Amino acid sequence: MPKMRFEALLESRKREHIKMEETGKRSDLFGRNVFNEDKMLQFLTKEAFENVKSAIFQGNKIDRKIADQVAEGMKAWALSMGATHYTHWFQPLTGATAEKHDAFFDIMSDGKAMEKFGGAQLVQQEPDASSFPSGGIRNTFEARGYTAWDPTSPAFIYKTTLCIPTIFVAYTGEALDNKAPLLRALYAIDQAATDVAQYFDKNVRKVYATLGWEQEYFLVDKALVQSRLDLVMAGRTLVGSLAAKGQQLDDHYFGVIPPRVLSFMSDLEKQCTKLGIPVKTRHNEVAPNQFELAPVFEEANLSVDHNLLLMDVMEEIADRHNFRVLFHEKPFEGINGSGKHNNWSLATDTGVNLLSPGTTPMKNLQFLTFFVNTIKAVDTYEELLRSSIASASNDHRLGANEAPPSILSIFIGKQLSDVLDELEGVSKGKLSPEEKTELKLNVVGKIPEILLDNTDRNRTSPFAFTGNKFEMRGVGSKTNCAKPMTILNTIMAKQLTDFKKEVDALIDKKNLKKDEAVFNVLREYIKTSKRIRFEGDGYGEEWQLEARRRKLSNNKNTPQALQVITSKESVALFKDMGVMNEVELKAHQEVELGAYIFHIQIEGRVLGEMVYSHIVPAAIRYQNTLLENVSGLKEVYGAAHKKVAEPQLNILEQVGEHIVEIKKLTDEMTEARKRANGLSTAQKKAEAYCDNVKPYFDAIREQSDKLEKLIADDLWPFTKYSELLFAK
Ligand code: ADP
Ligand code: MG
Repeated sequence: MPKMRFEALLESRKREHIKMEETGKRSDLFGRNVFNEDKMLQFLTKEAFENVKSAIFQGNKIDRKIADQVAEGMKAWALSMGATHYTHWFQPLTGATAEKHDAFFDIMSDGKAMEKFGGAQLVQQEPDASSFPSGGIRNTFEARGYTAWDPTSPAFIYKTTLCIPTIFVAYTGEALDNKAPLLRALYAIDQAATDVAQYFDKNVRKVYATLGWEQEYFLVDKALVQSRLDLVMAGRTLVGSLAAKGQQLDDHYFGVIPPRVLSFMSDLEKQCTKLGIPVKTRHNEVAPNQFELAPVFEEANLSVDHNLLLMDVMEEIADRHNFRVLFHEKPFEGINGSGKHNNWSLATDTGVNLLSPGTTPMKNLQFLTFFVNTIKAVDTYEELLRSSIASASNDHRLGANEAPPSILSIFIGKQLSDVLDELEGVSKGKLSPEEKTELKLNVVGKIPEILLDNTDRNRTSPFAFTGNKFEMRGVGSKTNCAKPMTILNTIMAKQLTDFKKEVDALIDKKNLKKDEAVFNVLREYIKTSKRIRFEGDGYGEEWQLEARRRKLSNNKNTPQALQVITSKESVALFKDMGVMNEVELKAHQEVELGAYIFHIQIEGRVLGEMVYSHIVPAAIRYQNTLLENVSGLKEVYGAAHKKVAEPQLNILEQVGEHIVEIKKLTDEMTEARKRANGLSTAQKKAEAYCDNVKPYFDAIREQSDKLEKLIADDLWPFTKYSELLFAK
């Protein structure tokens, strides 16, 4: 057996699980490494504390004097926790996080050493950012960007570093990251939703978007992952034929979680608890070695940060337990992929979930208002929302034969559909007292009961209402949730702003009562947004045809899906809501296209190397073995050898054909790559990679997988699916 595969298997089989000692109650650990309110009260002056609080609540600026005080307190706390460095933690457009560590330790002018960290270091830093993508925003003479403190996400200590969540922007003000647009979108939704919520409760002063993600992932032994070039370089297997066991669930195969995995999970939960990430592990793996982790939901900005931090922590803890985490959306062909459902809602500072029905008719009308406006927003901007989850790796799920489909639609269940149908019949203009009573008692009033026994749980819809929140299911497991959350909150902000204008106009000009005006506008929304509602499962031809009839977009790949970002409508929307300007939109699009090209290019290179340096040589080796055997038989049997050598000759022929074919396809793929690289714009390049390069991957894989089945096991160079997926 090739050395790499053999040693990896040997190593993985010798693993023992690291025993975790249970240290006290989880609740005592919660937030230990976070500079949260408790710590602020302890380490900040009253003045500084109140300033930070109001910055969080009202978005007030923190002045230099206060920043110095906050920095002083943060430093004192961090040093007391044993931290030695600090860093501005930010989210470059590549999707992951970045940091640059500086030591607190400094030598003063008098030669004495001391720990230094002031307001200036807290508030703003200039990372050496030339290596982060900017989509052309920073050309060489203004090649600088800076990171700026985001006081709404608390600083935390990771390992021995104080991490300060920051935005990353160019000196000219454009966002170079995913957090700055998200914060602007959250500001926009706060403004728009607070205005609307005040129709129903004058006391509301702020509305938060809430997010609860569900992170799916695969866990594979470290040595086994390292033995495969494709997993290391591309995060997914480019060749490999499905194990005989496959996904045909065999309860006792997947039901019991191996002790090594349990240790990893318990270690992970402990670390998360300390970092204030309120996770609960779940063991509902669909595929072998696949797991899921979900937190209690939080304010969206914090929740996004926590998800990004979690992904880092997972990698670190996995390494300690000799695993690798695969965040790729489709690491294994023929086996269920991974996603990251985004559960989303809106909550007021008075503690009300705006997507949850209440106990009074007014509260239920409030629910209906936000519910119908969400449907309307998604209907208007379905293509834009689809673009927010587009990536090379997520293309393997969306639009491929896996839920959810690339067509966006909303599932709300039969009962709520019935309610909307009733509301469609509401009279135009003023409502009679009888109609009002009827609506309040028998339509709106029934909603809480309906939702209580709503067992109508669709599992595959891309955007489903699940009782008191919407669940966006197309988000990829690797995706930074900031992207879909920025779009979702921006389109909702726009929708609510329009709604408010329409309702106010009816109240002012048509003399309608507030509830009459609301019913009137909602009725029209229900009528005009019908096409986005779909209760089926979204698979197959039929829905594709139906969706086309409804004029819903169906962008099956990333280069197609990204185009809408810079459409006239999108530019106007983002400008209106103050979330991104045209330069930023173009830059973000450019970066996404660049990432796509890079991704497919790497896969192409890796696949080429695997074919030329491993697969073909292994096939030739097997060919030689067969040839040697056939010649030997000929020597012994003479002319009669044909009969005894028949199976060998047959295999020989097949192996030979596959060698010819795989070599030819790989040569062609390399040529297609060269042609794609020669194209001038990112859009054209991405399309060429998608349409002309990528199709070779499947064709090459098919040849490789056939060879894998033909060639003697001890000659096959790559760790097999059965070994990757069923190792304990
Ligand atoms: P599943 O989708 O697997 O059936 P659940 O319905 O239990 O799981 O989804 C729970 C997820 O929804 C959790 O991550 C939780 O934090 C999140 N969630 C619950 N309520 C809200 C809310 N109001 N806003 C945002 N997320 C929420
Ligand atoms: Mg879910």
